[in-house]
Amino acid sequence: MNFKKYTFAFMLSCTSFSLVQAQQKPENIDAKVEELLSKMTLEEKVGQMTQITIDVITKGKDRYSSEEPIALDIEKTKRALIDYHIGSVLNTAGGKARTPQLWNTLIKGIQDVATKDTRLHIPVIYGVDEIHGATYTAGATMFPQEIAQGAARNPEMVRKAAEITAYETRACDIPWTFSPVLDLGMDPRFPRMWESFGEDPYLCSVMGVEAIKGYEGDHGNVADANHVASSLKHFLGYHAATSGKDRTPAYIPTSALYEYHLPSFKAAIAQGAHSIMINSGIINGVPVHANYKILTSLLKDSLGFKGVAVTDWADIENLNRRDHMAATNEEAIKMAINAGIDMSMVPYNYEAFYDGLLSLVKKGDVKESRIDDAVRRILRLKFELNLFKKPNTNLKDYPDFASKAHANVSYKIASEAITLLKNTDHILPLSKHAKVLVTGPNANSMRTLDGAWTYSWQGDKVPEFTAQYNTILEAIQNKIGKENVSYVPGVSYVENGKYYEDKFDDLEQAVAAAKKADVVLLCVGENSYAEKPGDLNDLYLSDRQTELAKQIAATGTPVILVLNEGRPRIISKFERDIKGIVQIYLPGNYGGDALADILFGDINPSGKLPYTYPRYPNATINYIHKPSEEQKKAEGVYNYEADYNPQYRFGFGLSYSTFKFSNLTLSADNISRNDDLKISVKVENTGSREGKEVVELFTSDLFASKITPDVKRLRRFEKINLKPGESKIVSFTIKPEELSYYDNDGNKILEPGDFEVHINNLTKKFSLN
Ligand code: BGC
Repeated sequence: MNFKKYTFAFMLSCTSFSLVQAQQKPENIDAKVEELLSKMTLEEKVGQMTQITIDVITKGKDRYSSEEPIALDIEKTKRALIDYHIGSVLNTAGGKARTPQLWNTLIKGIQDVATKDTRLHIPVIYGVDEIHGATYTAGATMFPQEIAQGAARNPEMVRKAAEITAYETRACDIPWTFSPVLDLGMDPRFPRMWESFGEDPYLCSVMGVEAIKGYEGDHGNVADANHVASSLKHFLGYHAATSGKDRTPAYIPTSALYEYHLPSFKAAIAQGAHSIMINSGIINGVPVHANYKILTSLLKDSLGFKGVAVTDWADIENLNRRDHMAATNEEAIKMAINAGIDMSMVPYNYEAFYDGLLSLVKKGDVKESRIDDAVRRILRLKFELNLFKKPNTNLKDYPDFASKAHANVSYKIASEAITLLKNTDHILPLSKHAKVLVTGPNANSMRTLDGAWTYSWQGDKVPEFTAQYNTILEAIQNKIGKENVSYVPGVSYVENGKYYEDKFDDLEQAVAAAKKADVVLLCVGENSYAEKPGDLNDLYLSDRQTELAKQIAATGTPVILVLNEGRPRIISKFERDIKGIVQIYLPGNYGGDALADILFGDINPSGKLPYTYPRYPNATINYIHKPSEEQKKAEGVYNYEADYNPQYRFGFGLSYSTFKFSNLTLSADNISRNDDLKISVKVENTGSREGKEVVELFTSDLFASKITPDVKRLRRFEKINLKPGESKIVSFTIKPEELSYYDNDGNKILEPGDFEVHINNLTKKFSLN
């Protein structure tokens, strides 16, 4: 497909689609919830708190698998929904994407049993991880993953992507998505970094709120059949595992938990997000699923969260089996429900959860008031989604499913996300007449462009669904003609191997071809992975890919390195020999097209790193760090400096244009705690091309008496577009409260003293009285 022929139409017809329902008043919903709750038996209540995966109720040899063609097993479905009163189902059947038509059939079948054959006719709430588009739907629009959306620094586009995802999700009769991820992508070793918007709490907060607005609508009107309920995840501190491995212990002081990990969740809860998924890991020795202080005192009491707290996959069982906190499964259920869990993603052996919880309530080990609280939340969500009146949606009402307008938004985000990291001698943009060698394991793979949670959990089934989209190689061929492009992989990923397994694949031919080319496009990075299977032992780019890079660079032909990876794999062993470097992250189905447009100058790059790109494995320090991590020389014996030397800094990203920042102006040099501080800066496009620039405002607290201050913190950002010679004044307002910090008792502290404002290379001081 030649994507270029499409015109950009960003006004989505789906937003004006006429399915909008009148929002129900909260008091009406509360009354309905109470009325229904009063009729429910304990068994029915416990069933509502139980979530199963769809394989449990499809035709298949056991509850762990489904057989093709996928169909509901009516006996199994009735047993779960009628005998055990199951309230929720999740996931795709048989571990891969299904057509929207099949989704409609399956969910209609489930809702028919729930709403016609059960005593109280309570609809099921179906949930799926629709994390960058309708993950498990064939043909759905796939967007760049969150990490790339963070790089695009365009909040409006995050919202549009979520809006379209909601629409295409509802087209499949699914009203609930387990998205967005609001964890901080703070550790490049962690296998889910790419599922986050990046390493900064403010960036994650802004993007998270936009995602909620896109999924749920401006005012959380999820009854509107164009919207879905979102689920924030994974509350709280999930990516901070000390080992960098998934679901291993984290040690997080209260100050860091509140200061860094909490803001994005707090902002999204204030926006009205309807559900939240709990961190599967362990903080300070306590599994979060058993942590009353986090789940009830903090989340429900202090933040006032009114929605549903759902476990992550099998995480009640994990309190027993994995974490050895509970000696029995029943003890595990008691811990989790009493800590504040409302719904258990069981997901297979629902009888054990159901029977266990029932018996705990009967023995008085779990109070019925706790059960009522959980069920109230679940029923409220079902009423808010209008599932009682309209348990199903229908594909025919969603004519814009996978439309060109939707594809255009995906392309646009990719084109704004791609980040130019190096451009020695203006090697980029390339001439369309150049003879190009395309090489590397990521050159001809849709799987690596999309990443995991695309058509299958690990992304391994991407090729079955993506013949119509362009890999990098195909996009380059479309752009400059096949006759100008040669392709030798040099290294390939091992088919059906582990995500990190690669092999040499015509290495010598690749090097020989490099010698004959005008320029080499070396496409490296990672194959797709998610969660535990994506754990990593060595942050350097793989040995074989490093070898390929070294040998190609040694030919003397200019090399453009294309990084297609979920996390920053270290490239310092050969980076100095490379002329151009472009980070494309996991840019989705139109990432190849967007990259080709940038490489050959049809689009001016404007992405900015949403994380710090490390230079060495033992130097993975985020941009948010303490003064001692980049200290100046002391006099005397200890005359050393701290070595803060990332490969590329957070917020870094070049353009084909140049921008000049000047006139940084503050509304006052001294402010009191009641004054706002207004900050403005002039930005001028001093280059010869129209381009976009991101203006990022940081502050530094020069001294803080309770917790060593961070060197600097992002407070605002705005992406602007400037024609050559054009300038704009960009203004921000911050409140003194935003300069406060948390101590280790969880107190928010605002201290008078000196602060600095930084925008680009400009700095100004001010004092807070
Ligand atoms: C992941 C969650 C996901 C859930 C349901 C878990 O393994 O940690 O992010 O939402 O599965 O698929």
